[in-house]
Amino acid sequence: MKFLDLAKVTIRSGSGGNGCVSFRREKFIEFGGPDGGDGGRGGDVWVECVPALNTLIDFRYQQHFFAVDGRPGMGKQRTGKDGDDIVLRVPAGTEILEDDGETVIVDVTEVGQRYLLAKGGNGGWGNLNFKSSTNQSPRRANPGQEGVEREIWLRLKLIADAGLAGLPNAGKSTFLAATSNARPKIADYPFTTLHPNLGVVGIDGREFVMADIPGLIEGASEGRGLGDQFLGHIERCSVLLHIVDGTSEDVAEDFRIIDTELKLYSEIVSEKPRIVALNKSDALTDEELAERTAALEQACGSRVYVMSAATSKGVLQVLRAIWTEISAQRAEASSDEEIEPWRP
Ligand code: GDP
Ligand code: MG
Repeated sequence: MKFLDLAKVTIRSGSGGNGCVSFRREKFIEFGGPDGGDGGRGGDVWVECVPALNTLIDFRYQQHFFAVDGRPGMGKQRTGKDGDDIVLRVPAGTEILEDDGETVIVDVTEVGQRYLLAKGGNGGWGNLNFKSSTNQSPRRANPGQEGVEREIWLRLKLIADAGLAGLPNAGKSTFLAATSNARPKIADYPFTTLHPNLGVVGIDGREFVMADIPGLIEGASEGRGLGDQFLGHIERCSVLLHIVDGTSEDVAEDFRIIDTELKLYSEIVSEKPRIVALNKSDALTDEELAERTAALEQACGSRVYVMSAATSKGVLQVLRAIWTEISAQRAEASSDEEIEPWRP
């Protein structure tokens, strides 16, 4: 596996609350007896598979997941409140690994699947629970059981949501580099956008994975063992961004070359929603820009976005258009999916 999203997080289940030592003290009642309640149970840490996620985005902002401790028991036979559980929500395809980064704890594969990562500590018994025929007034109670703390890795194989198409020199690599690097907040996060042909793009607080298709094909033909994997990227993606070089003499012809190639390549791919962008607007006069946009619109029969990957002008609009397609398809996919309760 090559394209991985990784996150290391610390989890801790809640400790159980301590048992209570207490005796009933009421007027006119002799030998009130023990009435110390048990401590509450500590919260568990679970992992759960949810739809509509394709990266480990949530774990870039939060790395500690601590469930709540149980409350101690109290007099008058009152049991302490249980601590709340905490749930790590991850996309399908996430592997949960031990601290060593190798041993697989669980492979999360299906939406709805849940797995207990760290069990909360039991609450301690209050002295009421220690009462017996031989000891009517025990003065002992148990402490709550400690929670469990562990470090784990989350590992997700990235699959592209959006694919980039276009002739050589259109600006695909430039676009990918410009859009998938602009996340300064996570600069020191051990994050893999190592491969130049695949990037994670942040937009309006969401993320998607974008792949440079010709780049992937080049990589595959160089024998880097991409094979099926790059096919997977192309066929799984929700939308294609077709980038056309605005400085080309004949943008309509450039568009048709790629359009034909996609049709020959596969029906599935050519029928994907497509967004068309005229790139390198910074290098064009207003007149050229108007004329080429019109020519391209005529060739593709849909709206043309004008952008400059080099200066980022117009890029945000293109990303939003891509995201709109992706989120629409994710919503459709998750409503199609029947979420059955997961059973081991
Ligand atoms: P790719 O073959 O589609 O991946 O194209 P590249 O991203 O490698 O870009 C090809 C050339 O076009 C490079 O020299 C880039 O610097 C240049 N380029 C890409 N985007 C722009 C842009 O928006 N404006 C200008 N002026 N040049 C660009
Ligand atoms: Mg390139």
